[in-house]
Formats: sequence, structure tokens, C-alpha cells
Amino acid sequence: MSNDFPAAGGFTKSGPVTVARGMLVVVSSPSGGGKGTIIKRVRKMVPDLGYSVSFTTRAPRPNEVDGRDYHFVTPSRFEEMRARGEFLEWAVVHGNLYGTAYSEIERELASGRDVILEIDVQGAASVRQRTTGAVCIFILPPTYEVLRERLLRRGSESPAELQRRLGNSRGEVERYREFAYVIVNDDADRAAAQLAAIVTAERVRRERQEEVAQRVLATFP
Ligand code: 5GP
Repeated sequence: MSNDFPAAGGFTKSGPVTVARGMLVVVSSPSGGGKGTIIKRVRKMVPDLGYSVSFTTRAPRPNEVDGRDYHFVTPSRFEEMRARGEFLEWAVVHGNLYGTAYSEIERELASGRDVILEIDVQGAASVRQRTTGAVCIFILPPTYEVLRERLLRRGSESPAELQRRLGNSRGEVERYREFAYVIVNDDADRAAAQLAAIVTAERVRRERQEEVAQRVLATFP
């Protein structure tokens, strides 16, 4: 498959009318920013919102399930997929490989469903470069101290891994400017409500309502 994916989250021209497809909703934050919790809540609030399960070479955490949280693969399997152009984007994050496979998102987008990508800032930059219309949201922790406490409380990383993630966090947070929306996660319910509002509003942008508007227009004499 080609690496170009210009229609993802955008629009394909089909005859005289522009046919809308599902949109990509890209959510990034530093590790411990709380995006996982927020996304789970949003998916209960907003219908027709799929989730792309990423591929990673990171080892599973005790509570993680293969195929649900990630597709856990070996570095050589990841490399094979990458060489075959199976990823819309991929990146090295905190020393491991992570990637979004076309296979995870194509069917959903083609059927008009929207898909959330929970990916890092490098992945978000690749998606912006290679697609049109992706909606990019950055989730900020209220302070560095809160981020550190959340990561500590989660207890899923070794002390060295925790330090690495905290050490990378400033560089990630500095890139908030690359995103169209910024949510401060000081309260998960409020942050989820804001993310749901963004998705709902983006769905009714005029550009995404062309097909509907044309259909309505066609009923007029
Ligand atoms: P974790 O190891 O904590 O699950 O994830 C570490 C980082 O990798 C997070 O910032 C997460 O958003 C990011 N990540 C997860 N999946 C992907 C992916 O498919 N592509 C990219 N670029 N980053 C990902």
C-alpha cells in the first residue's frame, strides 16, 4: 500500500459532490497526562468514535491485554511492517517503537466513523503532514508536579523508566503549539467534556457537512 493517505480525516472527491469520510482525532500528551482515562470517558459520551490500537515493541504491563491496549510485537515484526509501509505513522518514544497501522483505521474511516489516535507528539506531526483534516488536541497536566505524582501513583514504570518519561515531558509539553486545541486536565470529567465538545463541533464543520447540505439542497424546488 502507498504511504500516502491524503484522504484520511479529509475528503475524497467522488463525482460532483465531495464525499465526507470519518475524521482522525489525534490526542497527545506527556506520559501521565491522563489521556487514556479521558479517551475512555469520551468514547462513552460520543457515538461512532473508534479507537486505533497501536503496535508497540514495549513489553506489556501486568494489566494490559494484547489486541486491546496495544498489539505487542517484536522489533523484527515491527520493522517488517514498517518496511512494507503498513504504518500511517510510527516513532521511537521513550526508547520503544510505536506505530499506527493503516489496517486499524481504514475500515472505520471509510464507513464514516471517526477514529481517535492516542499518539505522541512526533506521531501527531507525521499525521498532520500526511493527511488533511486531522483534528489535533494536546492534553496538558495542570503542573509538572501533578504529572509526576500521577506517574508515581500509576506505579507501572521502574524508577529509571519513570525518570526517562519525566525527563522527556518538558520537550513534549513545549510542542503544545503544534496542536489546534489544548485541554488542561485538572479534572478528568471536565477534560472529557471538553474533548467530547471538540469532536462534536468538528463533526458539523461546514466542510464535513457538504454531502448532507447538498442532499438537503436537492429537496428544494
Ligand atoms: P505508553 O508506553 O505509556 O503506553 O505510551 C508511551 C507514549 O507512546 C505515549 O505518549 C503514547 O501516546 C505514545 N504512543 C502510543 N501509541 C503510539 C503510536 O501508535 N504512535 C506514536 N507515535 N506514539 C504512540
